[in-house]
Amino acid sequence: MTDEKPRLIPNGKCWCGCGKDANIGKFFTQGHDKVAEAALMAVQYEASVPRLLAEHGYGPDNSVRDAALTEGGWRYCDYGCGYAAAPSSIRNHIRKYHEQGSTTMGDESTQSGSLEHSIRTLGGLWDTTRGVTVLRDAGYTPDEKHVRGTYRRLAEAGLLVKVQDRPVQYRVIEQ
Ligand SMILES: [Zn+2]
Ligand SMILES: [Zn+2]
Repeated sequence: MTDEKPRLIPNGKCWCGCGKDANIGKFFTQGHDKVAEAALMAVQYEASVPRLLAEHGYGPDNSVRDAALTEGGWRYCDYGCGYAAAPSSIRNHIRKYHEQGSTTMGDESTQSGSLEHSIRTLGGLWDTTRGVTVLRDAGYTPDEKHVRGTYRRLAEAGLLVKVQDRPVQYRVIEQ
């Protein structure tokens, strides 16, 4: 959808209209994106989110959330908790709610690091079994779900590309 709209380019001034300079490559001085958003909400939508939704045809009977998932680039959390958001928010959400707070978190993050290191060093094809084996050889007690989570994260980071589903298999992208 956004592809059809002209690209916006920062011009050194804060786009909230305060007249201050913005840093190179930024549209706003720090925090002023929120100011601009609030100002637009006030002037166009009575500062009311229901009003905003209704004016764009959304509401309880026409889900804006579903629209974001189908055409707004949103996706569901990998852990199946039902949380939906933009990929960058999903990563934060996973870090906050699915990785931290777990008693093995420290161990799991070193496991992820260890697995990533092996993948970078060894290259080639990676299925769940290979990841589990490599981690077991490194002295961990790996969990398949965690290995797949690490693959997904590395795929998002551009180190791996998925070449097969069920059973899932990834290939290292040549740098
Ligand atoms: Zn400003
Ligand atoms: Zn989740």
